[in-house]
Amino acid sequence: MIEIKGLHKSYVTGNNKLHVLKGLDLVIEQGELVSVMGSSGSGKSTLLNVLGILDSYDVGSYKLNDTIMSNLTEKKAAYFRNNMIGFVFQSFNLISFKNAMENVALPLYYQGVGRKKRNKIALDYLDKMGIKDWAEHMPNELSGGQKQRVAIARAMISNPKVILADEPTGALDSATSLEVMDLFREINKSGITIIIVTHEKDISEKTNRIIHLTDGIIESDIILKN
Ligand code: ADP
Ligand code: MG
Repeated sequence: MIEIKGLHKSYVTGNNKLHVLKGLDLVIEQGELVSVMGSSGSGKSTLLNVLGILDSYDVGSYKLNDTIMSNLTEKKAAYFRNNMIGFVFQSFNLISFKNAMENVALPLYYQGVGRKKRNKIALDYLDKMGIKDWAEHMPNELSGGQKQRVAIARAMISNPKVILADEPTGALDSATSLEVMDLFREINKSGITIIIVTHEKDISEKTNRIIHLTDGIIESDIILKN
C-alpha cells in the first residue's frame, strides 16, 4: 500500500540546505505493523510527515494505494489525509477545552456529521479503547495513557487504512507504553497498517518489522517473528 522509491528530501532555510532523507526505498504492505527507529535527527519524523502527506519530497516517488503522492491539489491531499490516514503524536494534541468524546468526534465534525451521531460514534470508539467511562472528562483530568487512547480513538474514527504514530509512547511510563503497544497490536489485527516511530528498542520489538534510519538512509530493515 506504501511504495517509496529513491526518495530524497531537503529543508531549505535561507541559504542553508539540509539534506535529510537521502534516497529511501521502501515497500509496506497493507496490514503490516512497522516501527521506524533511529537517533534524534535521523529523519524519522520527516519520513512520517511525507508518508502522511503533511510535507512534500524533492526527488523520487511515493505511492499510496497506487496513487503517486506529488503535485496533489490541496483538495486531493486532504481527501487522502482524511480518508486513508490517522495520526497519533507524542504530545497527544488533544483540544484542552473539549471533553474526550468531543475530541474523538472532531474528524467527523469536519466531515459534516451531526453532533448526536458523531458523539455516539465517538463513544463507540472510546469503548473499543477501554475508556468509555472517561468520555465526559476533559484532557487535563486524564492520565497520559488515557489521553493517548483518546488520541488513538480520534485517529480511528474516520476508518483509516494506515495509522502513523510519531513517538506515541514518548511521554508515557514504561508500563503504560506497553499497554498502548498492546492496543496498537490489537488494532493492527483488524488489518490496519500501523507505522510507529520510536527510539525505544522495547517498543520497536512489539512491532513485526523494524526499519532503522541512520542519517537519512535505511540502514537495516528486519522482519520479526512476533
Ligand atoms: P527525527 O524525527 O529522527 O528526530 P527529524 O525528521 O525531525 O528527525 O529531523 C531531521 C533533521 O531535519 C534534523 O536535523 C532537524 O533539525 C531538521 N528539520 C526537521 N524539520 C525541519 C524543518 N521544518 N525545517 C528545517 N529543518 C528541519
Ligand atoms: Mg522526530
